[in-house]
Parts: sequence; structure tokens; C-alpha cells
Amino acid sequence: AYLDRIAEVEGDIHAYLHLDRETALAQARAVDERIAAGEDPGPLAGVPVAHKDVFTTEDMPTTAASKILADWRPPYDATVTARLRRAGTVILGKTNMDEFAMGSSTENSAFGATRNPWNPDRIPGGSSGGSSAAVAAFEAPLATGTDTGGSIRQPAAVCGLVGAKPTYGGSSRYGLIAFASSLDTPGPIARNVLDAALLHEAFSGHDPRDSTSVDAPVPPVVEAARRADVAGLRVGVVRELGGEGYQPGVQQRFQESVELLESLGAKVVEVSCPSFDAALAAYYLIAPSECSSNLARFDAMRYGLRVGDDGGRSAEEVMSLTRAEGFGPEVKRRIILGTYALSSGYYDAYYGSAQQVRTLVKRDFDAAFENVDVLVSPTTPTTAFPIGERTGDPMSMYLADLCTIPSNLAGNAALSVPCGLAPEDGLPVGLQIMAPALADDRTYRVGAAVE
Ligand code: GLN
Repeated sequence: AYLDRIAEVEGDIHAYLHLDRETALAQARAVDERIAAGEDPGPLAGVPVAHKDVFTTEDMPTTAASKILADWRPPYDATVTARLRRAGTVILGKTNMDEFAMGSSTENSAFGATRNPWNPDRIPGGSSGGSSAAVAAFEAPLATGTDTGGSIRQPAAVCGLVGAKPTYGGSSRYGLIAFASSLDTPGPIARNVLDAALLHEAFSGHDPRDSTSVDAPVPPVVEAARRADVAGLRVGVVRELGGEGYQPGVQQRFQESVELLESLGAKVVEVSCPSFDAALAAYYLIAPSECSSNLARFDAMRYGLRVGDDGGRSAEEVMSLTRAEGFGPEVKRRIILGTYALSSGYYDAYYGSAQQVRTLVKRDFDAAFENVDVLVSPTTPTTAFPIGERTGDPMSMYLADLCTIPSNLAGNAALSVPCGLAPEDGLPVGLQIMAPALADDRTYRVGAAVE
């Protein structure tokens, strides 16, 4: 049924970079055989899933939506991919994204933009925009994404879906093409909170192949999604994440969600996190710095594209020609920015102070969580913006992640849940729920109560 739906609407949406009907059907038949043989087919037996094209898949290409990795076939599965295969899921295909997960609209893909199923002239969010568009267009019931600065929660919010950024280290980065390793977090995108929780539980948990994996039990997110009550829970509204610059309809729906939480028995208070005002600036030093290091591996020797290797050029020249042609403009901007921020003489002023801000953001969260169980805010300042509106203005594009970035810097759990449509444009609005590290279950409990 999903393959038929894809055949019907994919031409208008462009959610996928790679689709393979035969491989999908073969996986589905294998699940049937496991059941027929009396084997345990896994908790998600036969459920189709779409993977962001940043997770390696041994039977499909993995490109991170970059020309430099076009047609690259990884020899192994990411942990997320492998665990979901074992859980019985069927991979429908690989979804579009901003190149190397750098962006908020999926317009930075080297292979063309994805459209928002709610309005084809609008962006589906990013960088996991192919995953969110696929689920929103009923081209997949579940999808994976990665969230480095908001790339699961923001696309989920603007497509009317549930998206979770697990606690950093709660889901494995093994086999995930790295963008900013201290921030990258795989997570689920789904149509409702319980579905997201079932996917979350199926791929999360300790992985010895990821050096920053947390060796702790997976928080009981499924149980929390089923429990769905907030009576007596202390909810903090973050003062700094709202007000001027936020779309009126986003503010209105957010306000109504807070009132709903109160009517369900939550105790709502206002909380101030003053360092959040500097979080975006710190992120845009830390993430590019890490990316400039991580992307050094695309050297024309080890993977994918190689340009100018006709015998007369040095390795450096081939590397330079390949990177010039293989990387898109946003990726180059970040490599240049990050290399500069890390260079001797500027390191303390830029990278060093950004790390200090990161510590302050973490302290704001710690102080807030002494008095409240969860924090809430709008997920994004605006609903889905028009395709093309922000591509010429990186700063305005970066602002899409204003509310989501603090949780990446601190590494705590956060989830976005739909909270209605903005009256002025009829587009979905997301409510963000943030909880301490390893208390992911609280975000699901609150999300399920308000959805
Ligand atoms: N939009 C942010 C960026 O461009 C976040 C991306 C992400 O979470 N992968 O860096």
C-alpha cells in the first residue's frame, strides 16, 4: 500500500532520494517467512520505515544528499538501520535532506528540494525534510531523522508530526555520516506520540561502537506515551523562547497548549534561561568547527567523487578540485567558518567562548530542572516558510532553529508535538517539550497528553 501511495504522490513531493520496490518487497517477504517458520519476527514486524539518507544501509546507496557521495554504497549498516531491521521493519527507501544535514529547509540538497505536503510552495523543514514530508504525505508511516540543531523537531513541527531528539548518547551515531559529533542525535519521526515512542525504543540504547553512547537503560518512552497524564507535573514556560519575532498564530497555539496542560492538572510557571539568547551564536561556531574536521575525510581518495585524476595532477590538486565540485555552497560556508574559528589566534575568541556559552546553557537547564519537570516552548518561531524565501539569507535560515538549539548544546531530551494550525496560514504549529538527560519519557508523557 505504501509503495502504491509513493507511486501516486512522490512526483509532487520528492521526499525520497532512493526507492527500490523490489528490495522493499523482498524484505517484507522475509518477515513473512520468519513468521511462517515460527520465529519471532520482532516488535515492528512488517512495518515500513523510511531512513534519512545519512544512515548507512548495506543494500542501498547513502549520499547525505551530497554530490561528493553520489552513488556511494556503504559496506555496512548503521546501528539504527541494523536494529530496525532486527525489529522487523521494512525499509521503503532513503529520504532527502539538506546536504550533510546542514540546513533547515531541505533546499540545500544536491538533488533538488522536497515539498511540504500541506502546501507544495512551502518547505518541509530540514534537515530531515524528506523524512517529515514522507510521513506527512502518507508515503511512510515512520521515518528516522537526525537532530544536530533541530533537524528532527523543526521538520516534524512544520509538517504536523511528532519528532523526538533523544538524549545525546541515547541513540547510536555508529554508521551515521557525521556532521557535528558532539551534537548529532538520531531520532524518530511519526504521526503520533505512541508511534514515535515505539520507533524510539526499537533503535535506542547502549552501543559499544559509539564512544559517546550512554550505558543506561532506554527511558520507558512507550509506557510514558500510553500513560499520557500530566496531573501534578511542573511545567516551565521558557521566557526567552517567545515574544517578538514569533508568528502570532504560533504564539496563540502555544498559549492554548499551555492552558490545556494547566486544565489537565499541570502546574505551570514561567522560567528564565538567560543564556539561551546566545545559544544560536554559539551553535554556529561549534557545529561548523566540528564539521570542518569531520568533512576532512572527503578527500577524493577514500570515498565517492574524484575530479581531475587524469595523471597530471598532485593529490592536493585532485582533492581541491573534488571538494570544489562535490560540496554545495552551505557546506563550503561552514567548512570555511569552522576552519577559521579553530585556527590558532582565533580559537580562544571564537571556539573557546562558544564552549563557555555551551556550559552556561547547560547550567540554565540544570537550574530550571531543579524547579520544574519539563520546559515548554514553541518548536519554531514561524510555520513552514515559502520555498526560496530564505535561501539567499543564511542568517534568516539559521533562525528557524532558535528554540531547538539549546537542547542540542546541553544534550537533553526534547520532543515536538503538533498543537494545531496557525489561523493566518492554516499551517501546522509544534509544541516543544524539553526534559533532563535520560528523562525522555517525560517528553512523551506530556506530548501524549496534549496531542
Ligand atoms: N538547521 C541547523 C543547521 O543547519 C540544524 C541542522 C541539524 O540539526 N542537522 O545546522
